[in-house]
Amino acid sequence: MNMKEYIEEAEKDLLHTYNRYQVVLDKGDGVYLYDAEGKKYLDFVAGIAVFALGYNNKEYNDALKAQIDKLTHTSNYYYNVPAIEAARKIKKASGMDRVFFTNSGAEANEGAIKAARKYAYLKDGTTDHEIIALEHSFHGRTMGALSVTGNPKYREAFEPMIGNIRFAKMNDLASVLECVNDKTCAIMMETVQGEGGLLPADEEFIKGIRKICDEKDILLILDEVQCGMGRCGSMYAFQKFGIKPDILTSAKALGCGIPVGAFMMTEKVAQNSLVAGDHGTTYGGNPLACAAISKVFDLYEELHIIDHVNDVAAYLDDKLNEIKAAYPCVKELRGTGLMRGLVFDKPVAPLINKAMEKGLIVINAGADILRLVPPLVIEKKHVDDMVDILKAAIEEVQ
Ligand SMILES: *Cc1c(COP(=O)(O)O)cnc(C)c1O
Repeated sequence: MNMKEYIEEAEKDLLHTYNRYQVVLDKGDGVYLYDAEGKKYLDFVAGIAVFALGYNNKEYNDALKAQIDKLTHTSNYYYNVPAIEAARKIKKASGMDRVFFTNSGAEANEGAIKAARKYAYLKDGTTDHEIIALEHSFHGRTMGALSVTGNPKYREAFEPMIGNIRFAKMNDLASVLECVNDKTCAIMMETVQGEGGLLPADEEFIKGIRKICDEKDILLILDEVQCGMGRCGSMYAFQKFGIKPDILTSAKALGCGIPVGAFMMTEKVAQNSLVAGDHGTTYGGNPLACAAISKVFDLYEELHIIDHVNDVAAYLDDKLNEIKAAYPCVKELRGTGLMRGLVFDKPVAPLINKAMEKGLIVINAGADILRLVPPLVIEKKHVDDMVDILKAAIEEVQ
């Protein structure tokens, strides 16, 4: 079948929950993707911040192949070596004390919410605790994660939500304080908002939140599903601020292509929240998933990913500033590290399609923001290539 026929079949068989780009992706190598007809694309999306190590990394693939031949699944009623190793490595990388492996980011956030509610329940025996989340946040599509997602458009048709959620504003400590009361059990936020528009928390705000949480024994839940794993120039984005969350969630690049997630907590929260019987998952933390996580952390060290990100991100920043200066249709530059956004004065869909035509994959975050979340292994020459194509595409759609 050719690409057009595949797409026609997909449109008949798959539930239409995505407006997909008209391309069937077939193969990946390094920072390049190939469609089913062999056309090559420079990839600045990485499966939405997933393929940090690029495609077809041999060491990663070999580790997965070896694990497939050994054992892919047990059950969480038994121990397995890859999970033990992955837990050790994620603790070291995050500075957190205990980990629960999930299959996705949304599930990691579900677990985080349950842990926070249980913590509060054990303190006062009541069940009407509140969570403060932020406007324009995105935490996933399951009911709990959706309930704390600060975009009414995603929630409306699916009401009622889990309830007792209040929304405050990013980088506006006063708006958070207005929501805090004796029932608040957690403040939940992305360290850098992704879907909501590539908006980093500023240092004063996040430190202020930490202080509120410390004073009132409220748990700080940081969702680093998108911004974590080195993308913002430190293993986890919060580490730049010298603070620590009580609960941290991670996914996307954590598995670099294998569906995994995790929520982690401090020992204090672990000792005072979820116990045997409170939470579980069939697949979460299985040997195949954990072999991926484990190898991802090894490769981050081996390839000095964090140093590389800081180096190439500075270069990207210069180039994006040049684009902003050259084109009045680019109103604002957002984000940090290799998680960047260009705010345009109009919807970016035509621009994305034009870029694809020219062999560059980029994506949006909201209608007017072009999002760049490339593999973390991109080099400066790839940034140059991206800039050339993007400029040409901007000029053609203007
Ligand atoms: C993608 C994302 C999620 C949801 O992760 P899934 O694996 O799609 O469930 C949650 N939080 C943030 C910040 C995300 O970017």
